[in-house]
Amino acid sequence: MQYRFLRYPGGKGKAVTFSYDDGCRTDIRLAKTLTEHGIRGTFNINSGLIGKDDRDWHLTAREIREHIVDAGHEIAVHGKMHMAPGLSRPVDCIQDMLSCRLELEKTFGKIVRGMAYPDSGIINLQNEASYDNIRRYLQDLGLVYARTLGGDNEKFRLPSDWMAWMPTAHHGNSRVMEYIDKFLSDDPDGEKVYYSHRYPRLFYLWGHSFEFENNKQWDLLDAICERLGGHEDVWYATNMEIYEYVQAYNALVFSADGQKVYNPTLKTVWFRTDAKIYSVAPDQTLDLD
Ligand SMILES: [Zn+2]
Repeated sequence: MQYRFLRYPGGKGKAVTFSYDDGCRTDIRLAKTLTEHGIRGTFNINSGLIGKDDRDWHLTAREIREHIVDAGHEIAVHGKMHMAPGLSRPVDCIQDMLSCRLELEKTFGKIVRGMAYPDSGIINLQNEASYDNIRRYLQDLGLVYARTLGGDNEKFRLPSDWMAWMPTAHHGNSRVMEYIDKFLSDDPDGEKVYYSHRYPRLFYLWGHSFEFENNKQWDLLDAICERLGGHEDVWYATNMEIYEYVQAYNALVFSADGQKVYNPTLKTVWFRTDAKIYSVAPDQTLDLD
């Protein structure tokens, strides 16, 4: 018997994704910087706040389309009015998330299924709110992943619970550059890596672009992108692209002895065994060595 682990498109062992919240004007500079470095991100938007701020703070729909959607980044739900699920009555939060999803889909002509929890999300549960219930009703709204916060770590693992997707770090974490260096030097396909350590790695950064502006830290964003961008062995993807690719991987069908694999999906899927890296095309059945 052998271990089997996901590999990203092209057989790569590592992926990078970003997630930034609130749809503020500073997202324009953020999106531009990511695009320049070939990094892909997810922008979590409050549909009720689009272009509706007398401080000229939130992006208009035209700006979101031009700078985010047309640049190849993802837009995701962040609550129409930014309600924290753990602090809200279910009926209020259901309304806030469903309205946001419906409005983003209508405005941008996309199917929108991702989200980031607004405010304290599922971290602070009051008034008998429960994570299990929140997860259930968000999934009933057709949302398939939700980013949480507050658990920065250097494990670089894909989530085991997509509705509580813990990022690697907030960009303000004082160890963020150290985490990046560790991620970049980590090679899950390295000759000396023990078989059970060959699981895929993900570096997932989150934050708010206005923090770069308010803290005069745009040079930190530049430094992060310069270091993280442009690596041949890294797949740069939005949150949803990662989710959908992992679903395709999970849909692979194996024979009982593990010697045959069938790919019933429409994506070419990559994985590795102890021995080597394979790719299996849509509708292909493959014999493994
Ligand atoms: Zn927010």
